[in-house]
Amino acid sequence: MAGIRFSRLVDEFADTLERASSTVIRPRPAEGSRPARMQVTTGTSTTDCLLFLWTITPGGGGPGVRPANERRIQMTNITGMPLQPGVRTLLGGWSQEFGVYAFWDARRHTSFSGRSPSLQVDANTLETAGTTGIASQLRPTQQGQEVVIACNPASLLWYVENGAPLHNSQDDATAIVDLVEANPEDEREFLDSAEGEIAAARRYDLVETMRAFRDSKFRPAVLQAYSYKCCVCSCDLKLVDAAHIVPVSHVESTDEVTNGLAMCRLHHGAYDNALLGVRSDYSVVINPEMRNRLAEISLDTAIESFESGLPDRIRVPASIEVRPSPEKLQLGLRVRRWADEYAA
Ligand SMILES: [Zn+2]
Repeated sequence: MAGIRFSRLVDEFADTLERASSTVIRPRPAEGSRPARMQVTTGTSTTDCLLFLWTITPGGGGPGVRPANERRIQMTNITGMPLQPGVRTLLGGWSQEFGVYAFWDARRHTSFSGRSPSLQVDANTLETAGTTGIASQLRPTQQGQEVVIACNPASLLWYVENGAPLHNSQDDATAIVDLVEANPEDEREFLDSAEGEIAAARRYDLVETMRAFRDSKFRPAVLQAYSYKCCVCSCDLKLVDAAHIVPVSHVESTDEVTNGLAMCRLHHGAYDNALLGVRSDYSVVINPEMRNRLAEISLDTAIESFESGLPDRIRVPASIEVRPSPEKLQLGLRVRRWADEYAA
């Protein structure tokens, strides 16, 4: 399989990030000269990247010499991965065969021994990433196990912005690979089994990374279901969030669209703070306790004007399968400590 030109790989990479609604600034690299410098901005956060990217091909050496499942990148004209503070060095490959990216740990490849060394990844890992969005595997190196991450184009922005902790393994490479495959309910156990403050902080980072991954799928799905408009006020000024009905921190929270509501920042804040509620029949209610509390601090006019702008019911998606689940709406209110009469 012939390699795809670096400039084309970079264009496709940047276009993929921009399709996920980020802004990418990239000086065009000189023909064939790696790396490409990129500045990726989403909302208020910017990631500076140095991108090394090759085409992923089947292992060389003819039939029977290399395992049939082996895929690899061959790094040409490079002596090692440069590391700079504040810059994310991405060491990756694009698999045309599976339509996914794979990334190795740049920190473990700061200098190469051979002239054009290769890095391997398993075809199964690439195939899994194509269906689930992300997959990981271990790869032995001279400095211990390296974590290889594969992701599909829809998850590329998440990887670029949030993926670094998955590579930074010390002796927890196996635990990372397990975590990537774990369900959200297993994460609690993963956190609880940590010993020592550093280990706990590190595990928290990893769990946050995986939450960001699930959120990167949840958000576009919820926004699309609600046509990018707030379900309360129909505002669509690109200030619409995907709110979890049952909060992420709760054990029964899921990343299904039926656990989501598209809400503008104002209504999302009011919902999470239990000022505004959505009952299982989709009616919109104001929490009397909160209303009194705001009145006590002389915000009664403000709360009246807030309340007068509310509809009787939220606007739900036309398609029944993606409408908010009544059970989750009830649980969402209970978790936010609404009185029983509302959470029924
Ligand atoms: Zn709104």
